[in-house]
Amino acid sequence: MGRSSKDKRDIYYRLAKEDGWRARSAFKLLQLNDDFDLFNGVSRVVDLCAAPGSWSQVLSRKLIDERSENKGKVKIVAVDLQAMAPLPGVIQIQGDITKISTAHEIISYFEGEEADLVICDGAPDVTGLHDIDEYIQGQLLLAALNITSHLLKHGGVFVAKIFRGKDVDILYSQLKVFFSTVTICKPRSSRNSSIESFVVCQNYSPPIGYVPIMCNPLLVDPNQFKSLEGVNRIVVPFMACGDLSGYDSDQTYPLTTSTGGKEYQTLSPIQEPINPPYQTACLLKKTNSLTSSDSTEQVQNKDV
Ligand code: SAM
Repeated sequence: MGRSSKDKRDIYYRLAKEDGWRARSAFKLLQLNDDFDLFNGVSRVVDLCAAPGSWSQVLSRKLIDERSENKGKVKIVAVDLQAMAPLPGVIQIQGDITKISTAHEIISYFEGEEADLVICDGAPDVTGLHDIDEYIQGQLLLAALNITSHLLKHGGVFVAKIFRGKDVDILYSQLKVFFSTVTICKPRSSRNSSIESFVVCQNYSPPIGYVPIMCNPLLVDPNQFKSLEGVNRIVVPFMACGDLSGYDSDQTYPLTTSTGGKEYQTLSPIQEPINPPYQTACLLKKTNSLTSSDSTEQVQNKDV
């Protein structure tokens, strides 16, 4: 049996089939709800990046099927780039969460009210290159945060998938600007081998005077960032600077490297090191003392 087919048939995969969930991810939301009581008092929810729809199924079952008194009062809006098979009580939008037009369309279904809860299980197509996958996932999370700032009521809750990569701290800092409590959670149904986790962000409280915008702070171009005013500038910007096709500081290059049509030339250092480790060896060589094994040892000891 191939590795991927074995992986797919884990216990949650089988349980999802038995319980009629469209994906095993349903258990992740159910388990987050077990700990955070996410659906308590909720009547307007947005499911971002919802296809194939197991999270929307959970919303539909928990908020409508299990609470008959809620029938007609609950609004669930699901958004995805992909089309999704219909679900009872779920309004579907085929759209991009990075677009302001999508935010407007969602708002139109809430008839002037704001959402109590926004959830996002968004994931980009995985490239297999970890750094790139983590970066794109981070960007999608920030896009979800941006659209959420247009939709969520003060005090509301935002739940989103996050990859615990090396830049997770900056994402966490950004979320803390908008929510008083941010918790990173790993549901039992999320595979240990995956760097996926979920942020549960409670009590939406943007900085006073914050104006929702759709530009993603981590991608924003410098001119656009300059035009942001007041508290909108609190969001920590991160920019990749310099020519991305230039030298990579983590790589080693041969001394004969040429770039942009120019030959690279090795030059003497502008400031010679004051006390370089090879100085002793040079002195010993000058006095012809670098011949015996003793002096080699002496040099090594001095260098240490
Ligand atoms: N929560 C879903 C469920 O339980 O069935 C699974 C979501 S799936 C892991 C990730 C989804 O994110 C994909 O369907 C993909 O189309 C969607 N997605 C990625 N980027 C998006 C974007 N910019 N706008 C809307 N959806 C997006």
